[in-house]
Amino acid sequence: MIIMLKPNSEEEKIQKLIEQIEKKGLHVQRNNGVDYTVLALIGDTAGYNRSSLEVNEIVHKIIRVQEPFKRANRLFHPHNTIIKIGNHTVGGDEFMVIAGPCSVESEEQIVGVAKQVKASGAQYLRGGAFKPRTSPYSFQGLEEEGLKLLQIAKKETGLPIVSEILSHDKIGLFMDNVDIIQVGARNMQNFQLLKELGKVDKPIMLKRGMVATIEEWLMSAEYIMSEGNPNVILCERGIRTFENFTRNTLDISAIPVVKRLSHLPVIVDPSHAGGKWWLVEPLAKASVVAGADGIVIEVHPNPEEAWSDGGQSLKPKKFDRLMREIEVLARTESKTLLPKKEVKSW
Ligand code: PEP
Ligand code: MN
Repeated sequence: MIIMLKPNSEEEKIQKLIEQIEKKGLHVQRNNGVDYTVLALIGDTAGYNRSSLEVNEIVHKIIRVQEPFKRANRLFHPHNTIIKIGNHTVGGDEFMVIAGPCSVESEEQIVGVAKQVKASGAQYLRGGAFKPRTSPYSFQGLEEEGLKLLQIAKKETGLPIVSEILSHDKIGLFMDNVDIIQVGARNMQNFQLLKELGKVDKPIMLKRGMVATIEEWLMSAEYIMSEGNPNVILCERGIRTFENFTRNTLDISAIPVVKRLSHLPVIVDPSHAGGKWWLVEPLAKASVVAGADGIVIEVHPNPEEAWSDGGQSLKPKKFDRLMREIEVLARTESKTLLPKKEVKSW
């Protein structure tokens, strides 16, 4: 952190400020310029209360030189974090594909989709049991029953389960039934939830908030990591902009930016980004080429009848076609999907 002092600040006040900073365990390097005196703070400034400096009458400007996130920062952890989930990994050379319906609706629906997406090469099954709907009158999910149905689908197919948690009182239930706990866009800054998820060892898929900057998103990852859980997968799902043709605007540039700033795996959800089924394929392909570590795709056997997000869901056949195309692109990015022998074309 660098502090520029106002011109002609009294020496006594400068000394008092330096003392105040040094009491917090930081070293101060002072440079006396022609117009400005500059103080460089050396040490860990992440937890320093910046406003205690801002209110000081001799402070002109404070410049931060260090990102506030430490554990998620590539500077302190240059190698990619590779998270192991069952027989698979994310963040390394395997391309993660999570597929399944927006909401779990019935045993027939979820088991059927699970078998189809597995046959196409998906390694994980998604399905919402607790749904964060804009309207309280919309379908809220089958809740605990939905998690039970996901477990049946897992028994039938062996696919690990990804499902969204809405509140910290359900963590025990999710620990028993889910392999990757999803934190949705609406909960990206539910700090109580993030802290509690930091105390478990399951991988957390942290979606980017609708209006979150990349730094805010990484700070949310930091909340989980600072409590002891290093297994965070970041998921870009589009942000809200002035454009309203699409449901959200997929921030493709966030992929290389986050890969540069952080060592955590970054995956993309093109379904919630575009909000239309025909946008899923181009957005998914763009994500692979931009360097994503994986994708999350909504798949429904009968989108017209879906209880949520039917308009952005792919039919299993279309998903299968997308997988064949993704496979080729992923290989050019030095990523592989499942070993060929395990993939049967659907
Ligand atoms: C979802 O994955 O079904 C979902 C609600 O996503 P998001 O939090 O990105 O809106
Ligand atoms: Mn959805």
